[in-house]
Amino acid sequence: MRQLSPLERQGKTNLGLCPSGQDNRICTFAGQTAFRGLEVAGEFGEVAEALKKYLRGTRGIKGSTADLQDVANEMADAIIALDLLADQMGIDLGAAVTRKFNATSQKYGLETRLPADD
Ligand SMILES: [Mg+2]
Repeated sequence: MRQLSPLERQGKTNLGLCPSGQDNRICTFAGQTAFRGLEVAGEFGEVAEALKKYLRGTRGIKGSTADLQDVANEMADAIIALDLLADQMGIDLGAAVTRKFNATSQKYGLETRLPADD
């Protein structure tokens, strides 16, 4: 049985993605998860675009450019979108990052560990 997301446990199953009277197919769990997944893909694409423009600017290549703050803003958007997807799926993203980072550090004999949230 699927684990309820934190929002579902709070009774907030409609994340505002489906105003009344509009196509409600996206209001299903699968629809909202797919939407969040597409947001993640889009935001990581925006990171790549900002990075391309940043590098274009540093190399003096003609065309639109971006500064480091633009890149940082897109990185933040991507992480926020990923956290929203994780929340939608009932995944604690912070705990998953800590667990994965520490497992990889241990696997390769590295000393760096992230502190676990208790
Ligand atoms: Mg963005």
